[in-house]
Amino acid sequence: MTQIGTPDNPLRVAIVGAGPAGFYSAEHILKDGDLHAQVDLFDRLPTPFGLVRGGVAPDHPKIKSVIRVYEKTAARDGFRFFGNVKVGHDIEVGDLERLYHAIVYTVGCESDRRLGIPGEELAGSHAATAFVGWYNAHPDYAEEKFDLSCERAVVIGNGNVAMDVARMLALTDNELRQTDTADHAIEALDRSQIREIVVLGRRGPAQAAFTNPEIKELGELEGADVIVDPAEVELDPASRAFIESDEADKTSRVNVEILDEFAQREPAGKGKRIALRFLRSPVEIVGDGKVEKIVIGRNELTDEGGTLRPRDSGDREELDCGLVLRSVGYTGIPIEGVPFDERRGLILNEGGRVLDSHDAGHRVGHYTAGWIKRGPSGVIGTNKKCAQETVVHLLADAGSGVLLDPESADPAAVDDLLRERGIRFVSFDDWKAIDQAEVGRGEPHGRPRVKFVRVEEMLEALGEKVSG
Ligand code: NAP
Repeated sequence: MTQIGTPDNPLRVAIVGAGPAGFYSAEHILKDGDLHAQVDLFDRLPTPFGLVRGGVAPDHPKIKSVIRVYEKTAARDGFRFFGNVKVGHDIEVGDLERLYHAIVYTVGCESDRRLGIPGEELAGSHAATAFVGWYNAHPDYAEEKFDLSCERAVVIGNGNVAMDVARMLALTDNELRQTDTADHAIEALDRSQIREIVVLGRRGPAQAAFTNPEIKELGELEGADVIVDPAEVELDPASRAFIESDEADKTSRVNVEILDEFAQREPAGKGKRIALRFLRSPVEIVGDGKVEKIVIGRNELTDEGGTLRPRDSGDREELDCGLVLRSVGYTGIPIEGVPFDERRGLILNEGGRVLDSHDAGHRVGHYTAGWIKRGPSGVIGTNKKCAQETVVHLLADAGSGVLLDPESADPAAVDDLLRERGIRFVSFDDWKAIDQAEVGRGEPHGRPRVKFVRVEEMLEALGEKVSG
């Protein structure tokens, strides 16, 4: 057995998905100076950084500054980026098996979870993921249309994505024009007639999934008052006992305090209102061809095995609205040929080692990290530790020689294969040129960048520089 990771036989790893988990995996592999390794990071988009570019809200530029860390990884010896290459379409998993010792899937969770209520499919009812992709200039959502001509929008869910979309609907034109929000979204939001954004949490303030800065921010907007009914944030005895116990985390405690403070506020009469409702679930979305109203059920909390869960009280109320954004979490999409846990919406794995089935062992050479490994939870930094666990296993397997046996160890074989197939792949230098072009478009307007929305525009910005 030839040792893997030596100058003569460098460890060759393909990472699929250039979001945080992909970059952290690359970093963990490449940072060890003693190991000779080559990492090729593939992404179906010409642009790297996954949700940092396509998910993080445009008015949160500080969160995006983590890109500097990924740029350092990209500058390491042995790193290559192959953007605009879709695994399962332009290159198959079988091709990667012939070219690398190991494959790490870091594709994230690209789809939305469903509510399963009548009317969910009506025009005007959208997954928040689509709205997020649209305002962030993600090419998949370039053609989405959101009817913002109604007076009231309803956001379903109590996580940070719900906070993001509620806030984006409430930002003033002045606030929006300082960001890298897609131009099409700035124009549409500027014309928006929405005056009230109602956010429905199915449980109470003590169980909300959002974090402190995100809820606090809703109370600090230039153009919107935050409205909370004191009766709805009054804790039931079980939630009160939880919040006062050692079990409660600080985030939940502070969330409750912030919401109590919101409930005591008098509206300042700003142009828009964000109404935060609790113990309320959508029961049905109603309309003739498009969303006209939503039927809401009141919940009570009941203890199920130590967790307070919502139970329908039977009480109903109706709210007129023209837009519904469903923000109840993301789920993964299977990759052809990679074992998938349908129930959990993840790649079947144990500590990042892909499993052939629930009962079978590790599929040699296949690994996963990030949301598609553990589910859509945590902040960007959570993926660092998650990727580390996976890479520790990968390197241990490399040490024992239990990896794939690539037919070709020549890095140029990848470029040749893609060129043969007519794939216009985008290198990291190409990306830097796209990046500069976007920043240049933003400068005259005092914006961080004006994003390209379509893949063709990105490739055109490269002119002669396109590889392939
Ligand atoms: P999330 O945090 O899991 O929140 C999902 C929300 O949907 C929960 O409030 C959940 O309520 C609710 N929900 C689920 N099923 C529902 C149903 N059938 N009816 C009504 N409500 C339902 O997911 P997310 O907001 O999509 O965020 C994903 C991850 O990205 C999170 O870890 C989040 O913190 C992170 N993120 C962070 C930031 C930031 O740091 N600024 C921004 C965006 C996203 P239950 O609790 O009752 O299940």
